[in-house]
Amino acid sequence: MTKRFVIIGVLTLSVVLGQALCVFAFEQTGRFATLRYASMEALREFNDELYLGGSLGRMLRKKKLMTVEAEALAKVEILVEKAQVVLDMFPDNMHITVVILADAEDVRRVYKQRYGRSARHIAYYSLKEDTIYISADDTSLEVISHEIGHAVVDHYFKVRPPYNIHELMAQFTSKHIQD
Ligand SMILES: [Zn+2]
Repeated sequence: MTKRFVIIGVLTLSVVLGQALCVFAFEQTGRFATLRYASMEALREFNDELYLGGSLGRMLRKKKLMTVEAEALAKVEILVEKAQVVLDMFPDNMHITVVILADAEDVRRVYKQRYGRSARHIAYYSLKEDTIYISADDTSLEVISHEIGHAVVDHYFKVRPPYNIHELMAQFTSKHIQD
């Protein structure tokens, strides 16, 4: 009897913790993406780690952005547009959510909570939620453009391509994002 109560207690606690992780104090919405982040610190780190050079950087500078919030969102928007060009896929009304978590441990925790199994992801795209989860600590142009590639592919095809093909197209996106 006591044991059952303990188990119920643990389940309740993990549900409460899980929901707490989903409460994001900050949000920025643009044409292609909504950014959600639990703290300004996480957003700042994400923005610092996500460096856009070459033509991507020129597109960013043209926008003359004043705040970290606006800059981080603009970078993601530019990358969604470029990923569409790289893949030559332009899905109608594409809009994704990007959830910026502090570190890989948080990404693992959310993944475990959603899927009930462990995985060592620093970022992943949830097909069901239309959402990229990414560790601010581990953010890079390569990592986020790979996940955006998954998102574009997911929005484009009416019938979902096999997993390996999905993965191949995501890899292709990050490989050519700076072309
Ligand atoms: Zn992938």
